[in-house]
Amino acid sequence: MREDARMGGQVVVGVDIGGTKVLAGVVDEAGTVSSPARRTTPGRRGVTRQAEDALVEAVLESAAGRPLAGVGVAAAGFVDPAGERVMFAPHLPWQGEPLRDLLEERLGCPVLLDNDANCAARAEAHHGAARGAGSALMITMGTGIGGAVLIDGRVLRGANGMAGEFGHMQVVPGGQACECGKSGCWEQYSSGNALVRNARALMAEQPSVLAEVSGGRPERVNGPMVTAAAEEGDLVARQAFASVGDWLGIGTANLVAALDPEVVVVGGGVSAAGDRLLDPARAALRRTLVGAAHRRVPDVVAATLGPRAGMIGAALLLR
Ligand SMILES: [Zn+2]
Repeated sequence: MREDARMGGQVVVGVDIGGTKVLAGVVDEAGTVSSPARRTTPGRRGVTRQAEDALVEAVLESAAGRPLAGVGVAAAGFVDPAGERVMFAPHLPWQGEPLRDLLEERLGCPVLLDNDANCAARAEAHHGAARGAGSALMITMGTGIGGAVLIDGRVLRGANGMAGEFGHMQVVPGGQACECGKSGCWEQYSSGNALVRNARALMAEQPSVLAEVSGGRPERVNGPMVTAAAEEGDLVARQAFASVGDWLGIGTANLVAALDPEVVVVGGGVSAAGDRLLDPARAALRRTLVGAAHRRVPDVVAATLGPRAGMIGAALLLR
């Protein structure tokens, strides 16, 4: 029997809200997303009401008149341990507003809230690359690094709801300055930003197709350019990926030493490079992990749900 029929036509909507856009979709029990809707978000300087309006509009468009069984929200920010508030988000205006209650009032159905990386991990564990694994690490590589820890099938939230902020583990004392105000953070060496910085530095020393593509201006080089150049066989772009992949493996070895997961899932925009990123990471993990010769080293695999993982994992909050 179709879920819609069993639930009396009610639908569960999953929402993924970030700094530039909100995505909403009806998510069924198999993790399939239908009736997607999208709105732009006002950014950090916007007013909280605008972000809520964008979210509510996207949910209603996606539901298309069907009654709501519940709404799950994946937010790019710190969510309190009770799942009621977004305490802080670098790219959204919320600072401690009781978002869950506000949305329940406006939507007239149960609303549950979690951090976006936690939601993506939950989705990959149920329907994606970590399916069947009791414990898994999710590492999300975008401009920086985010992540989540699944232990015995549950997302580790921590005392403040802030577990999984791997990107700001210090890997190089006194190293590269980070946007967080510290220095030597992991994401300064392994992320979309690090990839671009590596490529810019290397193209000053070696010939590269990136010089042409950027019109001879390294500051114009971006992540997609480096990915495309690496595909074409450009050595500078390939070295930039090798370095980011190597650092990915080094940081992962520290996390594996601490948490001993069955599998490591790498998602986010940079993971689209696939084995170009993951092969050097696997090599560095084997090289760096304590006791690697005497244990089963976890596989490092690409996430399979792509940008829909947030919506799918948000909807799973209601199941
Ligand atoms: Zn940092």
